[in-house]
Amino acid sequence: MTTVPDKLPTITRRAALQTFAVSGIVSLLPSGSTAENVATPSQVSTVAGAKLHPWTPGALDIHHISTGRGNVAFAVCPDGTTILIDAGALQTAPDWNSDEKYRISPLPNASRRPGEWIARYISRHMPAGRQPEIDYFVLTHLHPDHMGGIDLLSPKKVTSRLGPYELTGVMDVHEQVPIKTILDRAYPDYNYPVELNDPHQLNFRKFISSFVHNGGTVERFVPGSSRQIKLRHSSPEAYPTFTVQNLAANGKVWTGREDDAIETFPPLKTLAVSDYPTENKCSVALRLTFGGFRYFSAGDMDHDTSFARLPWGDIEAAVARAAGPVDVAIANHHGYVNACGPKWVRSLHPRAFIVSAWDSAHPTIPSLDNMLSQDLYAGPRDIYSTALKRENIIATKRLKEIQSGNGHVVVRVPPGGHTFEVAITTNLEESDTTIGMFGPYITVSLSK
Ligand SMILES: [Zn+2]
Repeated sequence: MTTVPDKLPTITRRAALQTFAVSGIVSLLPSGSTAENVATPSQVSTVAGAKLHPWTPGALDIHHISTGRGNVAFAVCPDGTTILIDAGALQTAPDWNSDEKYRISPLPNASRRPGEWIARYISRHMPAGRQPEIDYFVLTHLHPDHMGGIDLLSPKKVTSRLGPYELTGVMDVHEQVPIKTILDRAYPDYNYPVELNDPHQLNFRKFISSFVHNGGTVERFVPGSSRQIKLRHSSPEAYPTFTVQNLAANGKVWTGREDDAIETFPPLKTLAVSDYPTENKCSVALRLTFGGFRYFSAGDMDHDTSFARLPWGDIEAAVARAAGPVDVAIANHHGYVNACGPKWVRSLHPRAFIVSAWDSAHPTIPSLDNMLSQDLYAGPRDIYSTALKRENIIATKRLKEIQSGNGHVVVRVPPGGHTFEVAITTNLEESDTTIGMFGPYITVSLSK
């Protein structure tokens, strides 16, 4: 079992030249803005080499935690409400003949499970004075790199003290940092389009049963709703521009009108079982808005149409159209070859892409070409990856053009939501030292 993380070049020369300028924040703010407490730079900014400045009330921080083993994004909202989107944990396979050779080594190392590292990270970044707690856990879809997988080969299993399930991913997180509400695409039936019963899914379902039994709240994610995820620690008037718009789940996509959503997948009875929507296509998608800032996250949605035989397969295009322009987009399906297509890139045209990577094909050449294409939209854009496999850096020349290829990626939106910055912090240990700072960027409402 490898315990030494890949040591990769982190910050490009261009990035070094973009060292954060504190004065930028103030000059970019619209004059006379009083909404939601305009920030002073000292409240929100951190310089490279220093410890990441703590979250402050009124700001929005979204941490993309680099474990090398799956997706995880932890948001601290302006009133301190905490949202966790996915908490993946791929098991470490014991032999070199397995898929392990394609994967990024566990970060910071393999001495703890990924979910344990995530829980510790969250505990360090809670609002001051609050016990670690997750108000909402949103699971995009039921795959191990998003919820946690179990070890199918090893007899060593660690069972929860809270219920009869194996500890991994989000279950490890909940063991240390209590979750209050869980939203996923399939509760309570877990049977669309087929029974979700692989060993990893059955373990997660045991966790859900135990969670409900112990008084937790679980809801099925409602496509089109903008009221399912709300600020929990302030009145609705305190931050009126903060919303989480549910964009899609199970192929049902927001129309852009109130809570309305339409089915884009055909009825199952019209499809061969082999053509059923995949787990990835059924992913949950959401758009988070704060002031002028917009953030897009859609799990592992893709655009695979089986060579145009199944046009509805381009679910990511439909969802990106519903989202419209955003500031930050999480690369669908880790930037794999069947995701982040031209239509998706053109509709979202983000200022920053974030790749959550765990494999040598994260991201791939086609998806990176799309993200970098000036034909799809003009203007600058920056790309950050939570990690990169060394082989991918060699195979994919254009990775030279991305801003950062290793480290936690922290998106920080100062009060008011007029600008945002991106901080890269070390994933080699738990000091939260900043190794790169980018921005400030002007948010979408002011720039587009
Ligand atoms: Zn995935």
